[in-house]
Amino acid sequence: MGLFDWFVAELTCAKCGKRSPPDNTTSVQTKLHPSPRQNFLEAGSQLPLTPESAENARYTLLSPPTGPEIRILQNWECPACGDLAQWLEVVICDGRITGIDSVTFGAARLAAAHYIEDESLLFAAASHPEAPPMLVDRALALQLLRARFPAPPKS
Ligand SMILES: [Zn+2]
Repeated sequence: MGLFDWFVAELTCAKCGKRSPPDNTTSVQTKLHPSPRQNFLEAGSQLPLTPESAENARYTLLSPPTGPEIRILQNWECPACGDLAQWLEVVICDGRITGIDSVTFGAARLAAAHYIEDESLLFAAASHPEAPPMLVDRALALQLLRARFPAPPKS
Protein backbone atom coordinates (compact mmCIF):
# COMPACT_ATOMS: atom_id res chain seq x y z
CA MET A 1 0.00 0.00 0.00
CA GLY A 2 1.18 3.45 -0.87
CA LEU A 3 4.10 2.06 -2.81
CA PHE A 4 5.35 3.61 -5.97
CA ASP A 5 8.41 3.85 -8.21
CA TRP A 6 10.08 6.78 -9.86
CA PHE A 7 10.65 7.48 -13.54
CA VAL A 8 14.26 8.57 -13.79
CA ALA A 9 16.35 10.04 -16.61
CA GLU A 10 18.69 12.93 -17.21
CA LEU A 11 16.22 15.71 -17.96
CA THR A 12 16.88 19.24 -19.19
CA CYS A 13 14.98 22.06 -17.51
CA ALA A 14 13.43 24.44 -20.03
CA LYS A 15 13.48 27.21 -17.43
CA CYS A 16 17.04 27.20 -16.04
CA GLY A 17 18.74 24.97 -18.61
CA LYS A 18 20.30 22.68 -15.98
CA ARG A 19 20.44 18.93 -16.54
CA SER A 20 19.00 16.79 -13.75
CA PRO A 21 20.68 13.69 -12.36
CA PRO A 22 18.91 10.43 -13.35
CA ASP A 23 17.38 9.91 -9.91
CA ASN A 24 14.34 10.69 -7.78
CA THR A 25 15.25 14.34 -7.19
CA THR A 26 12.92 15.11 -10.12
CA SER A 27 10.01 13.67 -8.06
CA VAL A 28 8.34 11.68 -10.85
CA GLN A 29 6.39 9.12 -8.85
CA THR A 30 4.45 6.39 -10.60
CA LYS A 31 2.36 3.38 -9.64
CA LEU A 32 2.27 1.95 -13.16
CA HIS A 33 4.41 -1.09 -12.36
CA PRO A 34 2.39 -4.11 -11.14
CA SER A 35 4.56 -4.34 -8.00
CA PRO A 36 5.99 -0.89 -7.22
CA ARG A 37 8.87 -0.96 -4.72
CA GLN A 38 10.54 2.46 -4.76
CA ASN A 39 12.50 1.37 -7.82
CA PHE A 40 14.01 3.63 -10.41
CA LEU A 41 12.29 2.97 -13.74
CA GLU A 42 14.49 4.02 -16.64
CA ALA A 43 14.98 3.31 -20.31
CA GLY A 44 15.28 -0.49 -20.56
CA SER A 45 13.15 -1.21 -17.48
CA GLN A 46 10.24 -3.60 -17.86
CA LEU A 47 6.87 -1.91 -17.55
CA PRO A 48 3.84 -3.85 -18.76
CA LEU A 49 0.88 -1.54 -19.31
CA THR A 50 -2.79 -2.23 -19.99
CA PRO A 51 -5.75 0.17 -20.08
CA GLU A 52 -6.78 -1.26 -16.69
CA SER A 53 -3.35 -0.88 -15.07
CA ALA A 54 -3.09 2.69 -16.37
CA GLU A 55 -6.50 3.60 -14.96
CA ASN A 56 -5.66 1.96 -11.61
CA ALA A 57 -2.37 3.85 -11.44
CA ARG A 58 -4.26 7.13 -12.05
CA TYR A 59 -3.34 7.84 -15.64
CA THR A 60 -5.95 9.33 -17.95
CA LEU A 61 -6.38 8.03 -21.48
CA LEU A 62 -5.83 10.73 -24.12
CA SER A 63 -6.16 8.51 -27.17
CA PRO A 64 -6.01 4.71 -27.48
CA PRO A 65 -2.64 3.43 -28.74
CA THR A 66 -2.93 2.22 -32.33
CA GLY A 67 0.42 0.39 -32.44
CA PRO A 68 2.87 -1.19 -30.00
CA GLU A 69 4.17 2.21 -28.84
CA ILE A 70 2.61 3.94 -25.83
CA ARG A 71 3.47 7.56 -25.00
CA ILE A 72 2.88 8.98 -21.53
CA LEU A 73 3.11 12.59 -20.37
CA GLN A 74 3.92 13.54 -16.79
CA ASN A 75 5.34 16.63 -15.16
CA TRP A 76 8.60 16.74 -13.18
CA GLU A 77 10.20 19.13 -10.77
CA CYS A 78 13.55 20.67 -11.64
CA PRO A 79 15.87 19.96 -8.68
CA ALA A 80 18.01 22.97 -9.61
CA CYS A 81 15.39 25.75 -9.77
CA GLY A 82 12.29 24.08 -8.30
CA ASP A 83 10.12 24.69 -11.36
CA LEU A 84 7.19 22.25 -11.50
CA ALA A 85 6.03 23.04 -15.03
CA GLN A 86 8.58 20.70 -16.61
CA TRP A 87 7.38 17.75 -18.66
CA LEU A 88 8.67 14.38 -19.69
CA GLU A 89 7.51 11.76 -22.12
CA VAL A 90 7.83 8.08 -21.29
CA VAL A 91 7.73 5.75 -24.28
CA ILE A 92 6.83 2.13 -23.69
CA CYS A 93 7.03 -0.55 -26.35
CA ASP A 94 6.18 -4.23 -25.84
CA GLY A 95 6.19 -3.95 -22.05
CA ARG A 96 9.50 -2.15 -21.77
CA ILE A 97 10.47 1.51 -21.40
CA THR A 98 12.32 2.56 -24.55
CA GLY A 99 12.83 6.20 -23.63
CA ILE A 100 12.26 8.93 -21.04
CA ASP A 101 12.93 12.45 -22.26
CA SER A 102 12.23 16.01 -21.23
CA VAL A 103 9.77 17.59 -23.66
CA THR A 104 8.01 20.89 -24.27
CA PHE A 105 4.36 20.64 -23.37
CA GLY A 106 2.03 21.80 -26.13
CA ALA A 107 -0.59 20.88 -28.68
CA ALA A 108 1.67 18.53 -30.67
CA ARG A 109 2.81 16.62 -27.54
CA LEU A 110 -0.71 16.33 -26.25
CA ALA A 111 -1.95 15.04 -29.60
CA ALA A 112 0.85 12.46 -29.82
CA ALA A 113 0.45 11.14 -26.26
CA HIS A 114 -1.76 8.23 -25.22
CA TYR A 115 -1.86 8.82 -21.47
CA ILE A 116 -1.30 11.67 -19.05
CA GLU A 117 -0.73 11.22 -15.34
CA ASP A 118 -3.73 12.55 -13.40
CA GLU A 119 -1.95 15.02 -11.11
CA SER A 120 -0.06 16.35 -14.12
CA LEU A 121 -3.32 16.72 -16.02
CA LEU A 122 -4.92 18.70 -13.18
CA PHE A 123 -1.77 20.78 -12.79
CA ALA A 124 -1.65 21.64 -16.49
CA ALA A 125 -5.37 22.47 -16.67
CA ALA A 126 -5.33 24.57 -13.49
CA SER A 127 -3.54 27.39 -15.32
CA HIS A 128 -6.46 27.70 -17.76
CA PRO A 129 -8.29 31.02 -17.18
CA GLU A 130 -11.63 29.22 -16.89
CA ALA A 131 -10.43 26.54 -14.47
CA PRO A 132 -12.25 26.47 -11.13
CA PRO A 133 -10.10 27.25 -8.04
CA MET A 134 -10.05 23.61 -6.88
CA LEU A 135 -9.86 21.52 -10.02
CA VAL A 136 -10.33 17.80 -9.28
CA ASP A 137 -12.54 16.71 -12.19
CA ARG A 138 -10.38 14.86 -14.73
CA ALA A 139 -12.94 15.11 -17.55
CA LEU A 140 -13.22 18.88 -17.07
CA ALA A 141 -9.45 19.20 -16.82
CA LEU A 142 -9.04 17.34 -20.11
CA GLN A 143 -11.68 19.53 -21.75
CA LEU A 144 -9.89 22.71 -20.57
CA LEU A 145 -6.53 21.38 -21.69
CA ARG A 146 -7.82 20.45 -25.14
CA ALA A 147 -9.43 23.89 -25.53
CA ARG A 148 -6.10 25.50 -24.69
CA PHE A 149 -4.02 23.13 -26.81
CA PRO A 150 -6.23 22.13 -29.76
CA ALA A 151 -4.99 19.20 -31.81
CA PRO A 152 -2.90 20.42 -34.75
CA PRO A 153 -4.36 19.61 -38.19
CA LYS A 154 -3.17 16.31 -39.59
CA SER A 155 -0.78 16.91 -42.47
ZN1 LIG B 1 15.34 24.40 -13.62
